[in-house]
Amino acid sequence: MALFTKLPTRTLTSSKQLLPSAISKRFLGIPSAFLLDDYLPRYQLLTSVESAKKRSLAYAHLRECNLCPRKCEINRYETTGMCLIGAKTAKVNVIAPHRGEEPCIQGHHGSGSVFFSGCNLRCVFCQNHDIAHQRNGFDLTPEELAEWYLKLQQIGNVHNINLVTPEHVVPQVALSILNARDMGLRIPIIYNTSSFDSLDSLRLLDGLIDIYLPDFKVWKDSTSKRLLKADNYTSTAMESIKEMHRQVGDLSFTSDGIAKKGVLLRHLVMPGKEDEGREIMRWLAENVSRDLYVHIMEQYHPDAHVGKKRRVTRRVRLGEEESDSSQEEVRYAEINRAVRDEELGSVRDAAVEAGLWRFCEPHEGQFHL
Ligand code: SF4
Repeated sequence: MALFTKLPTRTLTSSKQLLPSAISKRFLGIPSAFLLDDYLPRYQLLTSVESAKKRSLAYAHLRECNLCPRKCEINRYETTGMCLIGAKTAKVNVIAPHRGEEPCIQGHHGSGSVFFSGCNLRCVFCQNHDIAHQRNGFDLTPEELAEWYLKLQQIGNVHNINLVTPEHVVPQVALSILNARDMGLRIPIIYNTSSFDSLDSLRLLDGLIDIYLPDFKVWKDSTSKRLLKADNYTSTAMESIKEMHRQVGDLSFTSDGIAKKGVLLRHLVMPGKEDEGREIMRWLAENVSRDLYVHIMEQYHPDAHVGKKRRVTRRVRLGEEESDSSQEEVRYAEINRAVRDEELGSVRDAAVEAGLWRFCEPHEGQFHL
């Protein structure tokens, strides 16, 4: 099989994307606290007993799935839950070396990205809705996934394996990493998540993941209910991000400027929601780490359901008479525009005021370590 070539637009896809020529001019001023002499992926350190325990836990979760906050509690060998994905395989849309990530993740050869189909959120603005909200793609067993990781390592020469939107296929992912380790995988694993994870799920991943790439999306419950279709997103994201940081700490690099271990936190600034971004930055500094490596992302654009027109019919009363009135309405009109510079600046200022100082600024053409 050839590597798939169509890449989705999720993650860092800015017109200001880093050019290869800029990479060679990078500034490698890595603070010593975050510089690693060498790095062995965490899955290489698991004993055979620990690996066997993880395998049996993965199968147990599939038989009664409460692996994400949806808590469907179904046997995925017999039926599917909110994520629409069963037990034996994971559905994958794209596998390819990807150069649309942060410079310290994509490096010189790209990040070995695996974009999973399906999702446990229903973001109305989803920038990858053709993958996340539809069941398009290839069904791969954990063994087949492991073979792809090896191809990415050996043929793609990528710096890492980057699992994108894997929250709903964590057991299959855990099994694939254990298989790949036995087959000769030796590059770090990235868990690229919306942060709508359960603690059970993250405990299964402890020891298998080197870099967590969580997106902290919104702060208010009313916003998560309306825009993500999830009631308890913010409290879940808080717990998840704290657990991720407990496992792998702050983002650290080898001397070539490539990230090897730690948390890289993303926040996509949303139009008119900069107050929520400011709250998120304050909470991160106070509750996770002031040394947290943060990417404040600017590339929001209306997508999926946002900006679509629909006809709405309402009952109206005129005197004693009632009748139907029909008019056209733009869906989610409040976020049907790009983000303004002042909104981005406001979130960035709040982050600095809160004490955060490690920011990813890829458009400046440096690694920013
Ligand atoms: S991973 Fe899927 S089946 Fe399991 S609880 Fe979440 S949505 Fe439900």
